[in-house]
Amino acid sequence: MGTLICAPIMVQDSGRALEIALQARDLGADLVEFRVDDLFSGDDADAENILDLVRRSPLPCIVTCRPTWEGGNCDADDAERVALFERLGTSDHPPRYIDVELAAYTRSANLRQKIDLAVEHPRQVRDVKTSLILSTHDFVSRPSDLTRRVLSMGAHDAAAVHKIAFNARSLRDNLELIDIIAERSKPTIALGMGEFGLMSRVLAPKFGAFLTFASVVPMEVTAPGQPTIRDLLDLYRFRAITPETRVYGVVGWPVEHSLSPLVHNAGFEAVGHDGVYLPMPIAVSEDGGRDKTGAYESFKATMLAMIDHRGLDLAGVSVTIPHKQNLVRLARERGWSIDDTSEACGAGNTLTITRTQGRVTADVRNTDAPAAAACLADVLGDLKGKRIAIVGAGGVARAIAVGVSALGADVLVANRTPERAAGLVADLAKAASANGAASAIEIDKLPSSGAHAIVNATPVGMAGGPAPDESPVPAAVIKDCPPDTVYFDTVYTPFETPMLALARARGARTINGVGMFVRQAAMQAQLWTGKPAPAQLFERLVREKLAGA
Ligand code: NAP
Repeated sequence: MGTLICAPIMVQDSGRALEIALQARDLGADLVEFRVDDLFSGDDADAENILDLVRRSPLPCIVTCRPTWEGGNCDADDAERVALFERLGTSDHPPRYIDVELAAYTRSANLRQKIDLAVEHPRQVRDVKTSLILSTHDFVSRPSDLTRRVLSMGAHDAAAVHKIAFNARSLRDNLELIDIIAERSKPTIALGMGEFGLMSRVLAPKFGAFLTFASVVPMEVTAPGQPTIRDLLDLYRFRAITPETRVYGVVGWPVEHSLSPLVHNAGFEAVGHDGVYLPMPIAVSEDGGRDKTGAYESFKATMLAMIDHRGLDLAGVSVTIPHKQNLVRLARERGWSIDDTSEACGAGNTLTITRTQGRVTADVRNTDAPAAAACLADVLGDLKGKRIAIVGAGGVARAIAVGVSALGADVLVANRTPERAAGLVADLAKAASANGAASAIEIDKLPSSGAHAIVNATPVGMAGGPAPDESPVPAAVIKDCPPDTVYFDTVYTPFETPMLALARARGARTINGVGMFVRQAAMQAQLWTGKPAPAQLFERLVREKLAGA
């Protein structure tokens, strides 16, 4: 039996809960968990109500009545809850599972005996059966006595399933959860709660977990990190994940809105590559990332732990803000191979990990630079001798400068902070891959003649950015530029930024940021799968997603 998908339902109203259970079934869930904490106050009428809910459930169900002391809402005492389980377990239509907390189960021999009588286990075989899930949770962090809790579960033969859930503090906590599943003695659920725990939930079938939880509607507030059934099945292709499936992801902070999982998972499916691609958040310090040392240390520790973990099979990673420079630093420290473009940019966005007979090799590339250059070459033709003005001097500006310079273009960098533009130009002069001239200019001195293309590599004009309604290049400059000037905006939300709208009104040719995103992703996919990536599919998916956002 494969790993099941279970939809948790907080029951406030039985009718509504049954509607959600039907939706869960139609979406592809295998079972539902009725969380009856709010429905059960300890009396008989509540128990009748719950029996009726179970009887009418369209899917096999777990009944959980989580007490307040284990993160639930139920105020009934252990004896009252156990009485409910006895009634459920011995009814004509019992739930497929009841979930009982390890702490409640172990603290009273009397109650334990009553629970054991209500469920099927090796000493008690029933025709109509309900089985026991023994569970333990920590909503704050990894419990310090985790190993003892796991051992304690193993000592009780009445438990059919073990469930361990704790708040994952970083991606590394997933690795321990994976190990718990791999070393299981019984069917096991081991999951990380919170945004860092998504990996343990999606990869459950890779490690043979008993089930994973997924919601009917997004639960970002009440259960962050818990995917929807639709995302699990359509985005992550849960049913196709096997022990052999290779793992990929996008490392950055934040990454929850990254479009990379959308394109890469679809790309793997299209080319028949057995891989799954996940968001992989690696946090930086509270000050928003200015503490670069802390950011590097957590990046390094997390990456090495994931690469070294034998079961995880990490095969490739896209690296985004703020870890692109950290990737090159780590690669230098570890002696990984680094391409000239990443060396010249001082930043990489693609890590490929290869395992041959237990030996791990890692390769760092930068696909942003050739992707941006290809977007410009599409419109301008051969870039040799072309003059490209870049507004901005951050990571993207650097990649574009390196990319076009490698093809022989001359670069003019205009930035709000002039020293940063000068630094970029100085670094480019030293780069082995550079083949064109480079100079810096003050941002308000950008000339209206001389450039074949003007590129926006700042967030100006980006929806939700610092100046969403502005163009980084003044309207007057665009008006005075020759009409054959090409305008390239790396921003892709919205499709047509204020700069591109002004350029189009002038009759100029424009390039928006979707093409660069799609190209850098397609180059990554080809490195990982060895097959040409379906770039048109990537573009369609990105446009659809952004249009619907
Ligand atoms: P970054 O390293 O933080 O650099 C941002 C640059 O924008 C800096 O040069 C900064 O100037 C300048 N800037 C910021 N706010 C400004 C303002 N209000 N007015 C003028 N200049 C301003 O960021 P990045 O990684 O290079 O990303 C830049 C943009 O590229 C992003 O906003 C994103 O839209 C786009 N992008 C596109 C793709 C794609 O695939 N199409 C991928 C990644 C990013 P100072 O040096 O003076 O601070």
